[in-house]
Amino acid sequence: MRPIQKSKKLADVCYDIRGPVLEKAKQMEEEGHKIIKLNIGNLAVFGFDPPDEIVQDMILNLHNAAGYTDSKGMFAPRKAIMHYTQGKNIAGVTMEDIYIGNGASELIVMSMNALLNGGDEVLVPAPDYPLWTAAVSLSGGKPVHYLCDESNGWLPDIDDIKKKITPNTKAIVVINPNNPTGALYPVEILQQIVEVARQHQLIVCADEIYDKTLYDEAQHVSIASLADDVLCLTLNGLSKNYRSCGYRAGWMVVSGEKRHAKDYIEGLNMLASMRLCANAPGQYAIQTALGGYQSIADLVGPGGRLLKQRDMAHKLLTAIPGVTCVKPKSALYMFPKLDAKMYPIADDQQFAYELLEEERVLIVQGTGFNWHTPDHFRVVFLPNADDLSDAIGRIARFLEGYRRR
Ligand code: PLP
Repeated sequence: MRPIQKSKKLADVCYDIRGPVLEKAKQMEEEGHKIIKLNIGNLAVFGFDPPDEIVQDMILNLHNAAGYTDSKGMFAPRKAIMHYTQGKNIAGVTMEDIYIGNGASELIVMSMNALLNGGDEVLVPAPDYPLWTAAVSLSGGKPVHYLCDESNGWLPDIDDIKKKITPNTKAIVVINPNNPTGALYPVEILQQIVEVARQHQLIVCADEIYDKTLYDEAQHVSIASLADDVLCLTLNGLSKNYRSCGYRAGWMVVSGEKRHAKDYIEGLNMLASMRLCANAPGQYAIQTALGGYQSIADLVGPGGRLLKQRDMAHKLLTAIPGVTCVKPKSALYMFPKLDAKMYPIADDQQFAYELLEEERVLIVQGTGFNWHTPDHFRVVFLPNADDLSDAIGRIARFLEGYRRR
């Protein structure tokens, strides 16, 4: 029989967070092993429940949610998103500028599909949340990675951004708060990125899905609030701040200079229409979530479970010889570095496999986030304190063995 092959469009597409190491973990679970999962930012499965009011709201509205909605989304949640963007000082957003999606993920892919032709380049951070790199490649574009500087708290390296701009650069992706590093960008860095975008007429794609998951009383600034004269796409959703990944409720807001972007916006509208609409039950949750009690504050504030687990995980990880880690100011992740002399890792996927096989702990290797050297890995600090300290203890034991090799 003729082999059925995947499309050539997928040749450069990679999404290792749910890649081969996870497949191995699933197989081990089927064989009866208990795996401690530090691999995915899926809050609800670790007992971080969504606000009850949004669950009740979805249940109440299920009977009204059987039909298709407007392609961009229902009126009430879009209105709530409009108010939310006003609260974040993003100017000039109308109802027409708001797209609701099945999670931010769908809109990330849509935003790139509507934009890119072969040879177009998009600046994406390294390390990144790899869906951005994958979406650029799938859309026929070329992801060009700009460095975030670990020695400077993982902030974007503005000189590196400038160096990597070419006449083909169409957009720059800014993930703030950042996955996988937990960095939160100060306003000065955002202003410099806006300046570069302004000079080179780049679209700013701002992924702000963790904008309320902030520690140590940090404040988040939306880059779009600094960029009235630059076209900005701001992505957000319920998955993280409201512990509702499974409801698949996300949104994208188009702001800034839109007059010269009519054709692109037509493309976005076309793609939004083609997928008919986002799931309606998830849309019902948005208005209640944004207008309701912001219970994430109890988790990240003094005595909060996320704050305590971040502190504990950071302390335990950095106590391991040869492991350093920038302490995250936001989000759910840490991206520790392994000293290359102590841990001469040639292939970090293999490293993740071995850790899984020997210690039953699942992490994601750093190269899965488009990091250029095999000397980092990402952990989530979501399992309860006992599991988390158990997992990091096992990582420490595994690394001790690695040093002796
Ligand atoms: N953007 C970032 C930075 C993420 O970390 C994630 C999920 O982990 C997403 C987007 C996907 O969000 P959603 O669940 O809304 O599709």
